[in-house]
Amino acid sequence: MNIINSMDHGDYHLHSSTLSDGLNSIDEIVIRAGLMNYTEIAITDHNREYMDRYGFSTRTHYSIIASGRWKNIHNPVQVIFGVEADLLNEKGDICRDIQGFEPEFTVLSSHERIYQGSPGSLKTAYLNAIDRYGPAITLLGHLCAKPFSNELSPKDIQEIVAAADRAGIALELNCANLANGKTSLPHLGAMLSCCKSLYVNSDAHTLHEFQTVRHRGFAYLKENHYI
Ligand SMILES: [Zn+2]
Ligand SMILES: [Zn+2]
Repeated sequence: MNIINSMDHGDYHLHSSTLSDGLNSIDEIVIRAGLMNYTEIAITDHNREYMDRYGFSTRTHYSIIASGRWKNIHNPVQVIFGVEADLLNEKGDICRDIQGFEPEFTVLSSHERIYQGSPGSLKTAYLNAIDRYGPAITLLGHLCAKPFSNELSPKDIQEIVAAADRAGIALELNCANLANGKTSLPHLGAMLSCCKSLYVNSDAHTLHEFQTVRHRGFAYLKENHYI
């Protein structure tokens, strides 16, 4: 298993208050990333559909980011602006825009209240999305989250991982979910036993999570002899 982002390299799943439901602004996150000596981070705020369905509003125009008016004035950390896209239905439709802009770096996740496919259709939804979007999806986020562990069996997880791998899409160890008890460990075991390319990401919504949960993720990988 290839781990794409080592502990010191950086974190590719982060939420800000500037653009979605994190508690800290982009600048606060970037300052903290510098103090942690990260090389690179990706801010992956939630897509339009997620913001609408959960009733979140933003007071920030994404065009300020898209037009390059924001720069990192704090430190040498490289900052990627991505998106956490949502799987919408069993056809594999996804929402991957923030205010109409589609960032290249895309984490595809499914969330309760957003996924509207019929019961039992989630595996089909993932396989269709992988087939349709291919490497336009950078990685699959929190595939082993508990709310969907009834919808997917560990064997389904392995089918999805195999399809993602063929399509050049990486997987994710979601460390906030792991630390917060929101990961189905049998599903995670199924994923880690066959996945080839893995991001170890925080999915932090707070600076505390940003600083701590990836350590927890790497400790889990070591304890279970994946690394
Ligand atoms: Zn969030
Ligand atoms: Zn997230």
